[in-house]
Amino acid sequence: MAITLPHVLAWLEALQQAYVENRRVLTDLDAAIGDADHGSNMERGFNAVKAELAGNPPPDIGAAFRATATTLLRSVGGASGPLYGTLFLRASVACTGMAELHASDVVDMFEAALAGVAQRGRATLNDKTMLDALAPAVEAMKSALADGAGLEVILERAAAAAETGMRNTIPLQARKGRASYLGERSIGHQDPGATSTYLLLKAAAEAWRGAAGAG
Ligand code: ADP
Ligand code: MG
Repeated sequence: MAITLPHVLAWLEALQQAYVENRRVLTDLDAAIGDADHGSNMERGFNAVKAELAGNPPPDIGAAFRATATTLLRSVGGASGPLYGTLFLRASVACTGMAELHASDVVDMFEAALAGVAQRGRATLNDKTMLDALAPAVEAMKSALADGAGLEVILERAAAAAETGMRNTIPLQARKGRASYLGERSIGHQDPGATSTYLLLKAAAEAWRGAAGAG
């Protein structure tokens, strides 16, 4: 068994729910070091994704990710719209023509997504951004895959690494985005984008649990 279109749609739906449930959390984090809109940005974006996917059911995985990307680019302003738009656009390119994703495909997909986010935002590790959750998650996926782990374990380790990366943003000084305007006053707060990226990986691990067996 592998990841198929229904699994991908279940993940995107779980993500929408996670952003609805965590709107306040994300907004409060952004209130401390930004402009208090990250929760509403993510909720609005994924509500629009849900409506788009329901209204125009995508024929395959690549199309589902492409619709997600274009909807986020259209409906979310700020820094996070283009960055999450790029994440899903690169994921869609990586999945073009694939009817199902096996463990190595999923790792390749997230690696491509990470490269896109890094390129688009020009952030590096420890700049206190979503990259600080995404990059360690991809590293964890790659080493789990090399260990011969199946998709379930790969995604669990990715979510755990993203959570650690998210917490590790607390002592960092922001060097990118709006939070960087605060200089040293950004220290001591968890990055909102790293938090929404952790939620993205946690939802993937939960939605795809057991879906791909040995992958
Ligand atoms: P805005 O900052 O425009 O209000 P959001 O509040 O929705 O946008 O998103 C803020 C998040 O975007 C930050 O917490 C950070 O994780 C992420 N971010 C900002 N700039 C960059 C960048 N250059 N590269 C990667 N992530 C970034
Ligand atoms: Mg903001």
